[in-house]
Amino acid sequence: MTVHEGKEFGVGDLVLLDNITDEAIAQNLKLRFEKGKIYTFVGEVVLSVNPYKQLNIYGQDVVAQYKNREIHERPPHIFALADAAYKTMRRLNTDTCIVISGESGSGKTEASKIIMRYIAAVTNIQQRAEIERVKNILIQSTCILEAFGNAKTNRNDNSSRFGKYMDINFDFKGDPVGGNIENYLLEKSRVVTQHSGERNFHVFYQLLAGAGEKLLSNLQLKRDFKCYAYIKDGSSASQDKADYNNVAAALSALGVTGPHVDTIWRVVAAILHLGNIAFKKDGDTVKVVNEDVLKTVTKLLQIDQKDFGQALLSRTLAARGEVMDKLLTHDEVFYARDAFAKAIYERLFTWLVKQINESIRPLSQSTTYGKNTVIGVLDIYGFEIFESNTFEQFCINYCNEKLQQLFIELVLKQEQEEYQREGITWTPVEYFNNRTICDLVEAQHNGIIALMDEACLNVGNTTDQTFLEAMDKKFAKHAHYASRQTAPQDKTLVHHRDFRIVHYAGDVVYNVVGFLEKNRDPIFQDFKRVLYNSKDQLVAEMWPEGAAHKTQVTKRPLTTATAFKNSMLALAQKLQQKEPHYVRCIKPNELKSSTLFDERLVHHQIRYLNITQNVRVRRAGFAYRSPYKRFLQRYKLICAQTWPNFSGSDRDGCKAIIEAHRMGQDAAFGKTKLFLRSPQSVHYLEEARNAKL
Ligand code: ADP
Ligand code: MG
Repeated sequence: MTVHEGKEFGVGDLVLLDNITDEAIAQNLKLRFEKGKIYTFVGEVVLSVNPYKQLNIYGQDVVAQYKNREIHERPPHIFALADAAYKTMRRLNTDTCIVISGESGSGKTEASKIIMRYIAAVTNIQQRAEIERVKNILIQSTCILEAFGNAKTNRNDNSSRFGKYMDINFDFKGDPVGGNIENYLLEKSRVVTQHSGERNFHVFYQLLAGAGEKLLSNLQLKRDFKCYAYIKDGSSASQDKADYNNVAAALSALGVTGPHVDTIWRVVAAILHLGNIAFKKDGDTVKVVNEDVLKTVTKLLQIDQKDFGQALLSRTLAARGEVMDKLLTHDEVFYARDAFAKAIYERLFTWLVKQINESIRPLSQSTTYGKNTVIGVLDIYGFEIFESNTFEQFCINYCNEKLQQLFIELVLKQEQEEYQREGITWTPVEYFNNRTICDLVEAQHNGIIALMDEACLNVGNTTDQTFLEAMDKKFAKHAHYASRQTAPQDKTLVHHRDFRIVHYAGDVVYNVVGFLEKNRDPIFQDFKRVLYNSKDQLVAEMWPEGAAHKTQVTKRPLTTATAFKNSMLALAQKLQQKEPHYVRCIKPNELKSSTLFDERLVHHQIRYLNITQNVRVRRAGFAYRSPYKRFLQRYKLICAQTWPNFSGSDRDGCKAIIEAHRMGQDAAFGKTKLFLRSPQSVHYLEEARNAKL
């Protein structure tokens, strides 16, 4: 048997279940969860149920148990998967990747950290200093990214609000020599507003809680977060202060120097002050109420006060070489202020990622000893359904559709290839392919994103509502789309501004209001110019496009959704070129409880993660497979011909065992592996073996 844990823990590999139903799978996971066994295999896929408590299963002793073992030799563990990815990379000299999926709060980010630590633990036996440095940065960088990119949400106290794909480069010895992080779509709207009960990004609270008096006074900040409009509805967390110190230490490990650290905190502080700038109507114009706050912002960003004031309140329009200023309305100035805050935060985040990448950039792609290989780890935001869903959820859920699509194609493909390689025939299994949902969103000219972009181009006469009408027209008959217009009977569509997409993971109703604006994401050229002219070299460096002259009509950047779509397509391509490994995370309850196993909730996840199909595909014919050598070793003692010694080939030995137990009907002999059709055969063999021990 693949997994040696004992009956009381259920089965360690779901393909060994007698009945493959959602219920049976949920029951098995429940049994294991209650006994602290949070990992379960489906073939080579690892399911992980969030334990919501620290388990003592990641220590050096456990690392030693998994190091250099075959994936099914030890009980299910995420270490087994990390080791498989590592070993495959080394043995086949090929790139591998680990794709971690699951909904928000299911444990993806923790899983990615555990994997990183495992890889760090099993490499660099010789303790080479350069490798230790790279490992250290790979691990420490997480703390910076989490400070700036994570926030407390109602689902997760430490929710990643950006997607992350990290490549780790290895040399011919199998030691990590560098890496590269790619980040996807930071949820920057959080900088200026948060849902009730949620927080802004951790870093704002960390700075206020952890900065020394001197720094705080330099930044003209008060310690109380209630003083700042952008974060006052949040809450403080006990670890903010310690986390501030960790971030500071991590920045220094990265080699970010004093002046740059200084700039980082000044940008963060400037955003807090920005949120407090108030405006009032004054006749036909709008005025800043608190000039002193505006002045603080300009001092922190080292930008020109007059220019900034002007950029906040008006906009330069350039047409045919002529320049004119147009005053903004009262609503527009608030919008402009928030857009400015979001933009500088996003740039800062991007800059930090770039810093990390520069400090661990692998020296050369190939050496005389052979090619560098890569393990990619993908930890991206999980599927989200909120009470009110907007543009961000639309992008996030689209991303999950893409990953699901990849999973379906690759897992099926891998299975098929294995059967082919082994020369065994099989019948493909029916499964739901979410291709049509991906198309609905991304199709070149006819997808939702294309329609959205079209609406964004027609500035004058389109609104969110006309965009919705365009979708209604195009997708009236689409099985995965509905709105009040196309489905008037539908009670779940309450508002005229809503539309629904039937995602693979469930139905999501999106509120169309704000889609076009977030997609267009304008930050006025005047702001860019002001920032480019900052006396702070780093700030100026972050805004190169501000160099354009006033009269120059600048090129329209890609819309947010199209840029995101392009990055998703590139990501999918990158993953496709690698040998994939999967971790699928499951959330046992909505209450962050370590004891509650909400069967209904788990059921739903099992269904949409397609776990049942996954098990079926894996079993399509054969529940169990093993290289001949391993099978023979394990079961040679239950056959007189093979025990205690067998002189023939491994394959013949296996044949002898199978025949001795009259299991020929159930077995197939591949080129290198033995396949068994029913899980009962495996149970039977295990029992026969136990009886002999
Ligand atoms: P996701 O990235 O999927 O949104 P996280 O990885 O941030 O979720 O996990 C949410 C929380 O659940 C973590 O902050 C931690 O408290 C807990 N958690 C997740 N995985 C584990 C684990 N393997 N061991 C202990 N606690 C965990
Ligand atoms: Mg996360």
